[in-house]
Amino acid sequence: MKLSRYLLDSLDALGIGACEYDADMRALGWNSTFLQLFPEDEGEIYVGEPYADNLVRFYRRRLPPEELPDIDRHVAEGVARHENQTQPFEFSHHGRRLRAASLQAPDGGRVRLWQRLDVDSQAETAPEMTLPLIDALPFIPDGATILDANDRIIAANNAFRRLYDLPRGAPVVGRKLDEIIARCWAGTSPVAAWRAAISNGLRYDGVPFEIELPGQRWLRLIARHSAGGLSFFTHADITVAKRQQMELLEAQEALRRANAALAELAETDGLTGLANRRRFVARLADAVALPQTLSLMMIDADHFKSINDRFGHLVGDACLRMIGKVVADQVAPVSALVARIGGEEFGVLLAGVRLEAAYGMAAAIRRSLALVPWQTLHPDLTGVTVSIGLCAGEGPLDATSLHALADDALYAAKRNGRDRIETASGPALPRRIAG
Ligand code: GH3
Ligand code: MG
Ligand code: MG
Repeated sequence: MKLSRYLLDSLDALGIGACEYDADMRALGWNSTFLQLFPEDEGEIYVGEPYADNLVRFYRRRLPPEELPDIDRHVAEGVARHENQTQPFEFSHHGRRLRAASLQAPDGGRVRLWQRLDVDSQAETAPEMTLPLIDALPFIPDGATILDANDRIIAANNAFRRLYDLPRGAPVVGRKLDEIIARCWAGTSPVAAWRAAISNGLRYDGVPFEIELPGQRWLRLIARHSAGGLSFFTHADITVAKRQQMELLEAQEALRRANAALAELAETDGLTGLANRRRFVARLADAVALPQTLSLMMIDADHFKSINDRFGHLVGDACLRMIGKVVADQVAPVSALVARIGGEEFGVLLAGVRLEAAYGMAAAIRRSLALVPWQTLHPDLTGVTVSIGLCAGEGPLDATSLHALADDALYAAKRNGRDRIETASGPALPRRIAG
């Protein structure tokens, strides 16, 4: 959505600053009142500037030096506030009191508006903070405090005292909120976190924020400022909601981990720990779709039935694990997926690997298998050999044809006497190489 220049400039007539952002939070346009209210943007803001960059400029001017190291967090929170803002809030900038609103456009963009609060509107809000409000404090169910222009407490109700474990009669008036919280934590608290939360709360009118108290208790604070400089804080105990929220998050996380573990298990071969056929087929389908060189290797143990017959199934299983390990070790340097795709058959998907290189790896697998100390699995077991079928192609390819071609090569290796490598070629696949 792009507001017309005319509309942005019309807002100048009302003294309203306006800046428009697209769905990626990049500046689209602004008016001259905007530049009056934010003189630091004069000559700095540009069309396409990310809102976060604008905030960096804003906070560099605004933050006290000790908070400058935290500028990234302030910017992140400012971006989140902008994205989530539903209610206008007030803050002071360059000695002016401003009310900021953020409106969501249908396309995900936002328009941000700033209204200068003039003397008349101050007069309107000033009576809020007179004596009757202090009289009303005891009737407010949440903790409630009134702070003066120096952020010192003028008045507090008993609910506030209870929330912060303040004994009856403990001095509250004249103290700052962070002193009260520091007393709760008795010097052991994550000071920086809630100090920053409070100074933010004092800065942004009506934006709720949370602080943690000892014993895993949480409070939600909201500050409202009056034009006269007083601020009014409510302190609500949200411990139950917060615990439920945390339990829910933990349960969701546990469920997510359990699902991930199940998904992993569903695609893992129990005997070797390698990928199983399901993952192999899925990854093959992904890999053939890309415009890349792809080699496919099918490996089948030779006369494996007789190994089982002579030495038993357990020895057979150990042999399969050993073959899987040798194959995985030999292709480890490249991007490969090794899977046990059937009883004594393995598949290797080699993305970005040409036929010649794949052939080298197949040869290395055979050499490595010949060096395995098979007698450690059974004293009479002298060796296990494999037959290997290979093919390669340039993606995008048809997965079924590629798979069939590698199978053809494997059967050729079996037919030609086993314990060997054969390559297959087909339409759009490289020529067979001698070996
Ligand atoms: P060829 O050289 O033609 O491949 O002969 P082969 O005996 O290896 O092939 P065949 O397909 O006749 O037999 C495969 C054997 O693999 C049969 C089965 O006993 C064995 N096998 C399959 N899965 C497993 C397994 O999980 N563990 C063990 N120990 N053996 C298995
Ligand atoms: Mg076999
Ligand atoms: Mg087989």
